Amino acid sequence: MTTTTEQNGLSANKKPWTSPVSTRYADRIILTTYPGQSVVDPIPLKWGASTPEERGPVLVSRNKNTISKRNAIGAHGGSYAIYNALAIAAGDLPADFRPDFLNTQPTFDFPIQSAWHDPMRIVSMDPFGHDIVKYYGKYLEQGIDVRPTIAVTRASMRVSEISEAVREGRLLVDGAIVHSDQGDVRVTKVAVEPVWYLPGVAARFGVDEALLRRALFEHTGGSYPELVTRTDLNVFLPPIGGLTVYIFGPPERVSDENVRLALRIHDECNGSDVFQSDICTCRPYLAFGIEEAIKEAQQGGSGVVIYFRKEGRALGEVVKYLVYNSRKRGGDTADKYFQRTENIAGVKDMRFQALMPDILHWLGIKKIDRMLSMSNMKHDAIVEQGIPIHERVPIPDHMIPTDSRVEIDAKIHAGYFTTGQTFTEEDLKNVKGRGWECWEDVTH
Ligand SMILES: [Zn+2]
Repeated sequence: MTTTTEQNGLSANKKPWTSPVSTRYADRIILTTYPGQSVVDPIPLKWGASTPEERGPVLVSRNKNTISKRNAIGAHGGSYAIYNALAIAAGDLPADFRPDFLNTQPTFDFPIQSAWHDPMRIVSMDPFGHDIVKYYGKYLEQGIDVRPTIAVTRASMRVSEISEAVREGRLLVDGAIVHSDQGDVRVTKVAVEPVWYLPGVAARFGVDEALLRRALFEHTGGSYPELVTRTDLNVFLPPIGGLTVYIFGPPERVSDENVRLALRIHDECNGSDVFQSDICTCRPYLAFGIEEAIKEAQQGGSGVVIYFRKEGRALGEVVKYLVYNSRKRGGDTADKYFQRTENIAGVKDMRFQALMPDILHWLGIKKIDRMLSMSNMKHDAIVEQGIPIHERVPIPDHMIPTDSRVEIDAKIHAGYFTTGQTFTEEDLKNVKGRGWECWEDVTH
């Protein structure tokens, strides 16, 4: 039996193919480019140059006015580049759309740090990506498609644990930082999209740049052939999530060595952070980090929480849930905790903290007085970058949910910092998570 377009729910005069490719794009597809081609005349991009003007704007657009000037590989927006492409294909967004940046400038002018023009200290973000109108306005006027990769704004936030801390008298309403009895908090926020300087990223991992480029090409389905064909381009905007900085107290204090700094580096865990699953310590530790950061700011110091989009140790939620299943079905004990992840993902962690300290360099952080994290990987990555950590603060025991003991005890055994109890291999066998008993009540 044949089906008509009407039966498929499509009207006869609005077929899905009424917007052919040729209405949006030139007939000739440029699959990749090579140095010396007629479409190749990049604006110089000198990573680590002493001024933003000499450094040059990061350009990835393939728009008509910019394609020959491109000096970087990839696309803006991290993974959201795909939604941008969908919007163009759907006809919601013209392919040559140019943003109007009026009034989008940062709410705080972060002072330029020496690291901003050090090619090896900041390798995974564009230190001049927050104010492209100021630094690269002349290119914008010429119709070149320069885009920001950092945005700085202000907000007021309300977190239930902070409201509770105010109610219970642990936090005071000071009228400036905590500005209401409900526990509303003023914050400066910085959103950062990744921009990788490939020689610097390769050096940070101690690998050959050609190998890094080849691996990125092969394992993104061959999506970025210029990683291989354009070795003259050494900046790549990867299709991954970025980070957000939350600054409590006056933002100028962050880089002031004369005031104390409390810092939490937090890697995303949506299930706990937002939906408050109790299988791990993520949300309680995040809330503790925010509370301590606010306290430090209220005492004349600075409090910073940095939130990285590295869901499930950068393995993603699908792998994470597969690991949960294997844990819960296999007798969920702390001695097997990391092995369950390794069995499924091949590694226990893909967060690679080596690039994480870049944001600290960008903010001008020279030392950390209170590090609100137990992670040895985060600690070591920061100290290796020349930023001393004076005190490490573990999550208080009473904030650890019962079912998350499996996770936190296994981590402590593997080297996470603690001021409390440590565990032997034998102890870990007896640290057991909640089973799935009684779930039949829900599933039937
Ligand atoms: Zn978690």
